[in-house]
Amino acid sequence: MTTPGRQGGLGEPGFEVDPEAGAADAQVRGSDTTDRSAHLAAADGALLRADEVVAGYVPGVNILNGCDLYVEDGELVGIIGPNGAGKSTLLKAMFGLVTVGSGSVVLRGETITGLKAHSLVRKGVGFVPQTENVFPSLTIEENLQMGCYQSSGRFAERFEFVAGLFPALADRRKQRAGSLSGGERQMVAMGRALMMEPSVLLLDEPSAGLSPALQDDVFRRVRQINKAGVSVVMVEQNARRCLQICDRGYVLDQGRNAYTARGAELAKDPKVIELYLGTLGKVP
Ligand code: ADP
Ligand code: MG
Repeated sequence: MTTPGRQGGLGEPGFEVDPEAGAADAQVRGSDTTDRSAHLAAADGALLRADEVVAGYVPGVNILNGCDLYVEDGELVGIIGPNGAGKSTLLKAMFGLVTVGSGSVVLRGETITGLKAHSLVRKGVGFVPQTENVFPSLTIEENLQMGCYQSSGRFAERFEFVAGLFPALADRRKQRAGSLSGGERQMVAMGRALMMEPSVLLLDEPSAGLSPALQDDVFRRVRQINKAGVSVVMVEQNARRCLQICDRGYVLDQGRNAYTARGAELAKDPKVIELYLGTLGKVP
């Protein structure tokens, strides 16, 4: 049997629960996924929302079976759930990288379902995939230039913003991304996505593959990005820490919403702990 509080626990020194986390209204949905009323009531006016998204990679094989999600201006939203639950697929569906069979994705009231990634970037949606998220043969600076190739006149101004968040990137701007550590690459990847001044950033497992200390660093930086005014939707395998820092969290299971509530509430919900945090909460 797992011992969820053992590792990555809420009382872990050096990783305090932010008292402001979870300040948004709680929207709890139990295992009854047919009840969308809480989502519909709360998602009205959201910055970005996904409604009843059905999506998959192969015609006739749905991975997402009607997912709902919303993020409000300024919110930090986490998505957790078992491997294969469809977390990455949901981010990709919102970023036009997976065909949405039915349902919708709406950004500030405008339907963006099926729009291509480059259009979404222009509209203020940023995406950092889990892997292969930097150009290894390019320098840090060139990677960041790629991030704003659609608006290259803004490079200097945006570089300053990104360097403010990640000073190490500015110091080493001429270094090839391929020679960086995993944690540094993650900074480059996030920095690249921030170059177009996104209003919402979609992050797929930013802490994956990093040491516990570097994971903490990534979580702090995500918080910092969020505090700088960027709304964030973050998928995380490090479920406990994710729930500690996010305003609201979603648990996805088998392509469906299983639970949603304030991050801190999900983290202490006995059912969520039993079903999802036992092993997911472990620091690798
Ligand atoms: P999670 O991120 O929650 O671990 P994913 O969204 O990556 O889950 O995957 C959900 C399901 O979709 C899995 O069954 C996975 O095998 C399948 N899948 C993911 N990517 C692809 C792909 N490119 N082609 C076909 N199936 C895929
Ligand atoms: Mg994934």
